[in-house]
Amino acid sequence: MFELERRDIKYLSGVGPQRAATLNKELEIYSLRDLLSYYPYKYVDRSRIYAISELDANMPFIQIKGEILSLEQVGEGRQSRLIAHFSDGTGIIDLIWFQGIKQVKKSLKVFKPYIVFGKPSVFNQRIQVAHPDIEPAEALQLSTIGLRPFYMTTERMKRMNLHSQAIEKMMRAVIQQITEPLPETLTPELIADHHLISLTEAIKNIHFPQSTELLKRAELRLKFEELFYVQLNILHYAHDRQRYFQGFVFNKIGHIFNTFYHQNLPFELTEAQKRVIREIRRDLCSGKQMNRLLQGDVGSGKTLVALMSMLIALDNGYQACLMAPTEILANQHFETIRSLLFGMEVRVELLTGSIKGKRREAILEGVQKGDVQLLIGTHAVIEEHVHFASLGFVVIDEQHRFGVEQRAKLWKKNVQPPHVLVMTATPIPRTLAMTIYGDLDVSVIDQLPPGRKPVTTIHQLDNRREALFQSIRRQLAEGRQIYFVYPLITESEKIDLKNLEEGYLHICEAFPNYTVCKVHGKMKPAEKDAQMQSFANGTAQIMVATTVIEVGVNVPNATVMVVENAERFGLSQLHQLRGRVGRGADKSYCILVTKPKLTDETRKRIDIMVRTNDGFEIAEADLKLRGPGDLEGTQQSGMAFDLKIANLARDGQIIQLAREAAQRIMDNDPESTSPSHALLWQQLKTLRKGMTNWAAIS
Ligand code: ADP
Ligand code: MG
Repeated sequence: MFELERRDIKYLSGVGPQRAATLNKELEIYSLRDLLSYYPYKYVDRSRIYAISELDANMPFIQIKGEILSLEQVGEGRQSRLIAHFSDGTGIIDLIWFQGIKQVKKSLKVFKPYIVFGKPSVFNQRIQVAHPDIEPAEALQLSTIGLRPFYMTTERMKRMNLHSQAIEKMMRAVIQQITEPLPETLTPELIADHHLISLTEAIKNIHFPQSTELLKRAELRLKFEELFYVQLNILHYAHDRQRYFQGFVFNKIGHIFNTFYHQNLPFELTEAQKRVIREIRRDLCSGKQMNRLLQGDVGSGKTLVALMSMLIALDNGYQACLMAPTEILANQHFETIRSLLFGMEVRVELLTGSIKGKRREAILEGVQKGDVQLLIGTHAVIEEHVHFASLGFVVIDEQHRFGVEQRAKLWKKNVQPPHVLVMTATPIPRTLAMTIYGDLDVSVIDQLPPGRKPVTTIHQLDNRREALFQSIRRQLAEGRQIYFVYPLITESEKIDLKNLEEGYLHICEAFPNYTVCKVHGKMKPAEKDAQMQSFANGTAQIMVATTVIEVGVNVPNATVMVVENAERFGLSQLHQLRGRVGRGADKSYCILVTKPKLTDETRKRIDIMVRTNDGFEIAEADLKLRGPGDLEGTQQSGMAFDLKIANLARDGQIIQLAREAAQRIMDNDPESTSPSHALLWQQLKTLRKGMTNWAAIS
């Protein structure tokens, strides 16, 4: 059976060198095994035959049985098309071809029974089907339950006549050749423990399901296998890292930390913050390199925890750095940290792409000499030419942007890898964290600083602006401050800025007795600072801004956050924005303004925001709505292999099972030497081949 698996795709009948080359290039299918793991993206029920009289253009796919009454070719040259008038006795529809007319015309016969399959549409009030599948009725072989697989194909493949049906045909040919079981890729124990079907059964049924029950079991088996190897890879890699890398020992709590704690810290730490700092301290004293994920809702005080951890590194004679995903965030961290360390003798510098020339050189030199103790920046910080004298601690403040690869780059910044603390800007669902950050230990700040009040969120249509302004006037009269936030997305920057400027004028008119300030990313830093300052000190009562205020601004007297065009913001962004209010003693509101007509998805997003303030719940919902693809490049997030069938958003339970199974294997066989697991380690090696081998990075 090994032979069949490894056979080159080009020797499969009907493929040949040209189509094989296309399959290689477009889908990375080289062998029959590769082809077998190219799973359908959907199934269409072809057990049902519709009557033409019941068709409407909203149906996704239809199947009808009838005869061609007549064929006609209309139009000239590139306009030309072939029309078949097709009837089943209940009505007539048109089948249309724009391409390959000659061939199609030759192959079709009038008054012969055909089965037609395709997507109906309406043209000139007549229902038509363009480029349908058409097969002689007697030749049609329905799968036992009528589910027909559909395979994703690319434009280039379609041009080579390699559409879904062609793949289906190849698949059928290969599967018919499977006469003995395919070599198993999971151990008998795993299969038995999880009541899985065999690989062979799964492969056969994923392509040509014999029953809906078997289709489900095939999916389960293949998803489990895929996720199991992802988890085994992560755990194996984390194990190797622990074995090969020692960690710096920071057992001293010294002058810097103590001065900050006793003199500079403006408030009491929350219990959760204290607990997390203890967890980090334990790692720093353990002799092992720390790789920890710090999760916590917006405003829970992660930055402070990160800063205090970095100060421990400084006390032990090492440098620390903090990396943010954008320049704006890096700037804000720099400002915040500088003011928190006010009066202390710690040299803090900012390094981003826009810091150039002499200033940059001076910073780089300071970093290399060790004079710069705390470096804050974007990923400019991990570039090759940035040399640290003794980097001991790294904080990554990320929004799903640093994967294992980037983290690994950091390790080379000192003879021994520095300790790494990853802060997520928004909470991420547990199953996703398990996969993206599966190699990290996790700390959670599950408590907000005292005095935070839950924010009431309201959905408001933009055609009821006067009512909105009325309630804002009441808040202003009570001495509160208000944010108005406008979207700013680079692709439509000009229009967005225009909207913001118009909004600003409109707001100035509507609130003539109050001062309105304005902040956006295109302003000069000094001007921006002045505007922010006027809001912070209460000179301005209203701030009109883009999402630059998402982070960093802290004005406890601001009680209302109005988000304009809320439909254009993602869930986690809305949650971040909302975190700007509810910081003072007064009741706060977040008002999401949208146009009246919303898509289903947008409505769901708004509903979730109105319903809950819980960042974790919002993150779960976001994952379900958007799917993980948008959340992170799964490839670069350390998942080493592409997911072919599992879905991080929907398969949380299977991820959990796979994680537990992989953990048990690692616990029982930490050195990967048990003969009963040989198959698993072999398979892991095969999967890793051609991918970056994380375990080998040192
Ligand atoms: P996060 O990064 O988790 O969103 P921050 O670290 O930016 O949160 O903290 C949010 C705000 O709360 C900041 O203004 C910070 O100074 C303040 N803060 C942090 N910890 C405490 C605390 N223990 N008590 C009061 N305020 C705090
Ligand atoms: Mg923060």
